[in-house]
Amino acid sequence: MYKTTIGLEIHFESKTRSKMFCSCANEENIAIEERPNTNVCPICMGHPGTLPTINEEAIDKIIMTGLALNCEISTHSKFDRKSYFYPDLPKGYQISQYDLPFCKNGYLNIILNNNDQKKIRITRIHMEEDTARLSHSSDGASLVDFNRSGLPLMELVTEPDINTAEEAKKFCQDLQLILKYLGVSNADMEKGQMRCEVNISLNKEGDSELGTKVEIKNLSSFKIVEKSIEYEIKRQSALLDKGEKIIQETRGWHDDKQATLSQRSKESAHEYRYFPEPDLPPINITQEKIEEIKAKTPELPETKATRFAKEYGLNKKEIEFFIKDFPFGKYFEKTISELACWKKDTTRKDVLDENWKDLVQLCANYMITDFQSLVKNDEKDMGEYSLEYLENKITPENFGELMCLISSGEISSKIAKTVLIEMFATKADPSQIIENQGLSQIGDYDTIEKIIDEVLIKNQKAVEDYKNGKQNSFAFLIGQIMAASRGTANPQKTAQILKAKLD
Ligand SMILES: [Zn+2]
Repeated sequence: MYKTTIGLEIHFESKTRSKMFCSCANEENIAIEERPNTNVCPICMGHPGTLPTINEEAIDKIIMTGLALNCEISTHSKFDRKSYFYPDLPKGYQISQYDLPFCKNGYLNIILNNNDQKKIRITRIHMEEDTARLSHSSDGASLVDFNRSGLPLMELVTEPDINTAEEAKKFCQDLQLILKYLGVSNADMEKGQMRCEVNISLNKEGDSELGTKVEIKNLSSFKIVEKSIEYEIKRQSALLDKGEKIIQETRGWHDDKQATLSQRSKESAHEYRYFPEPDLPPINITQEKIEEIKAKTPELPETKATRFAKEYGLNKKEIEFFIKDFPFGKYFEKTISELACWKKDTTRKDVLDENWKDLVQLCANYMITDFQSLVKNDEKDMGEYSLEYLENKITPENFGELMCLISSGEISSKIAKTVLIEMFATKADPSQIIENQGLSQIGDYDTIEKIIDEVLIKNQKAVEDYKNGKQNSFAFLIGQIMAASRGTANPQKTAQILKAKLD
């Protein structure tokens, strides 16, 4: 058996208004991608004689990220030139950070599937500029798009504390969630806003020295991070079993082959010839600045989970849903605060007070099941949805009203599902839909009795069967009555009246 040691290097684009060292907009989205080289200037195209200026917003965002990840924030920092020659970098160097990163010595606690907690140490997080995007056409030409060039990019490096594919995947997922909560990055892996590299080595259990390190690049999803690690563990174990040596190299994931393949041998750090960027001043970060950013830091997933348990009494699974699904988490809180407002209204106060706990639970249930499935069906090809999208489909006010109607027994849960679908499709408010379609619950004795009588006349056989002891005829008759009333008959009363009549 071999012990696996993994370290991660993760890049993520910072969500700022402008690029890192020039005033071009930071908007690397689809529209811009379709128009190559439209969001550029002499600075981000690396023209000779241009001078960079530091984007303060990007510095604030990396400090916030470092604080959220329990890092020490450097009070003294600087930028360095990392020299390498490649067409995606016309200056011949990248402005990055070498020995004085903004953040160092942090950690992130991850929770594994078996509920164990594991602390993964973070070596550093530094700031750099993104490179241009290269694309290679089938006729052998290479095209360069500078829209991405100069976007603020953070690089996070972990200590080799990770030992399994699951841990690596979990770290990336938890990190992504934190970045989204902080609003510092959209961190969408498919869009290349977050990019992972894995350093992996295997050694014999008990060996003091680590094995030969292999780097895996080109990992475009969490699933691929996991798969590529599992693949490497198998590949390297097989080689070691045969007594062969592992070659130190960079490998890339090939999805069509479901394998990692060798790319090139590794350059060592000194070939980058780092030296301090002469065009940028060193940066001093005051304690006041750090405190100011701390105060502005939004609530993090862990804190939110504790609060959701305390304030709303939801169970672990429900909380996990609202933590991971950021838009629905916000939507839930907006709906609850809408309902809380209504509590101040004296005409509704008593009903709401009495049923408050059930009402909150009802909101959670309907969001997690019915509303979510409507969203999933609607958004099939769009990937992620936003809070704005949810609010546009059904306002929290209308959603809260529907929950009140269920909670007060005015409509059954069956009707509620129909109304919700209608609300989603038409944006109409629930009372309107119920009135227009005659869906309000029938609770009065005479009306229900009338429907029951009609059903009994049409279903003489079932009545006989019931009298002869066939119990499931009762359920059949209930079904017929509900259908006849289009689901509006109060179920408890219907059962009572039917039973009395048959007996
Ligand atoms: Zn520019």
